[in-house]
Amino acid sequence: MDYKDLANLIFPDAKEISYYEEKYPERNLPEGAVVTRFAPSPTGFVHIGGLYQALVARTIAQKTGGVFFLRVEDTDQKREVENGVTGIVNSLKDFDMAPDEGMISDTEEIGNYGPYKQSLRRDIYQAYAKYLIEQGKAYPCFCTVEEGEEIRQKQESAKIRPGYYGVWAKCRNLTVEEAIQKIKNGENYIIRFKSPGREDKKIKHKDIIKGNVDFPENDQDIVIIKADGLPTYHFAHAVDDHLMRTTHVIRADEWLSSVPLHLQLFQELGFKAPKYAHISPIMKNDNGGKRKLSKRKDPEAAVSYYKEQGIPYEAVKEYLLNIANSTFENWRRANPDKKMEEFDFQLNKMSVSGALFDMVKLLDIGKTIISKMTAEEVYERSYEWAKEYDLDLEDLLKDKSYALKVFGIERGNKKPRKDISKWSEVKENIEYMYDNKFFEKSQNYSYPEAISNKEDISKILKLYIEKYYDENDDKQTWFDKIKALSVEMGYAGEVKEFKANPDKYKAHVGDVSTVIRIALTGRTNTPDMYEIMKVLGKETVISRLEKAIK
Ligand code: GLU
Repeated sequence: MDYKDLANLIFPDAKEISYYEEKYPERNLPEGAVVTRFAPSPTGFVHIGGLYQALVARTIAQKTGGVFFLRVEDTDQKREVENGVTGIVNSLKDFDMAPDEGMISDTEEIGNYGPYKQSLRRDIYQAYAKYLIEQGKAYPCFCTVEEGEEIRQKQESAKIRPGYYGVWAKCRNLTVEEAIQKIKNGENYIIRFKSPGREDKKIKHKDIIKGNVDFPENDQDIVIIKADGLPTYHFAHAVDDHLMRTTHVIRADEWLSSVPLHLQLFQELGFKAPKYAHISPIMKNDNGGKRKLSKRKDPEAAVSYYKEQGIPYEAVKEYLLNIANSTFENWRRANPDKKMEEFDFQLNKMSVSGALFDMVKLLDIGKTIISKMTAEEVYERSYEWAKEYDLDLEDLLKDKSYALKVFGIERGNKKPRKDISKWSEVKENIEYMYDNKFFEKSQNYSYPEAISNKEDISKILKLYIEKYYDENDDKQTWFDKIKALSVEMGYAGEVKEFKANPDKYKAHVGDVSTVIRIALTGRTNTPDMYEIMKVLGKETVISRLEKAIK
């Protein structure tokens, strides 16, 4: 009896690996094209760090005319959560990052290198496990959980490296006959890789991001097929990234220390190893120290947070590119109007240590992005958001033509107003432009200190309504009239004049227009008042000023 008999006994129905090698041929792609993947496990919400990895992988694939695919790694079925796959697929969609290939819903996929869900690839893994067993490179292990625990305890008390290796790897030395007999006796088993490595030897690895790293060789006989017949992460990674013809494995740096094992698996399976790029986690300042963004402590760790907050997805992506390549910021300054996709992203320029997450910066990018949108875009996007997250805002936005006028204020010009960083700020930003909101609140008019005299305030407003306000005035005339009003009331018509002779005047035209602004909007700080008056219309302007007089 030989290894072949053992392999046949364990996997009687598995196909020859040549079948899969032919079914999933080398991809026919242009020179230099990079094939990358996002390979999350459906075990919880999508983490911003996962989105970051996916963005990097997708960007580099697109830049080189390659392929970016989504593979669902659901081999740990105990940890799987309900709607896990749908959550992943939708998160990528929400960020306009749908993959070229792979899962596109919980059950559907596109592309010729599938299935893209690992639980559907059982036969494939078994074929490759069988292939290893046939060559004596893998073997059934009959150790029970208790035996495993016993080994662990012995290693611990003797203070030696834990694991299933060398003399500790009991089942590695069973003869084929013994193994076959145990299987025939009905003993339970898993399949282990027979590592050819030695811990006292070193391997060199060149990581695209981390650079040159040295590791001891792997000598662990790791599990490749578990008791449930599904593979472990390590084995599935080797088989899948080989068959899916991944050229660059871009993943979290928690996997860096597994590289020796992975390279060994590729070697023993007879596969060409991919290139690796290990990404550092996104960090956060915490009481003077740095720590990873945490699923438990930080709401912004979940990608759903950005959608709920109404932070435009473009802002999140642009921010992530910013932390991915430090050259992005200068590029953006030099090319304010280019699409972020035009940036020449470099995988090897990513930082070796973890970048600090900076929400202020992210929101600032959001502001710039929204300031460049047309009124129509701002309308559509905030309306979409409101329908899901703020019914009150949805209500305000129902009158589209009015909303477009509101959003059109100081927009579409060379220096658009930068005042909204996320859709959840829209309501607060535009509320005062709506009479029902404006009159429903008792306005807290806090007038400028320079004009605190109540009578003067009433006079300014009265005079403005009766003598100066004309809804048909152009902007210059409108402003000249506020000046004239100021002069009539004993205020300086020019700020300069006031500064030269502060004792001569009560205050200046700026203070007078602030009085009007506050009466009109209840706010000290608004966009252009002329435009606001145009949008509000005569009736509203007058009724608001009258309310303020009262
Ligand atoms: N399923 C693994 C994880 O979520 C993927 C790692 C990889 O990209 O290879 O950590």
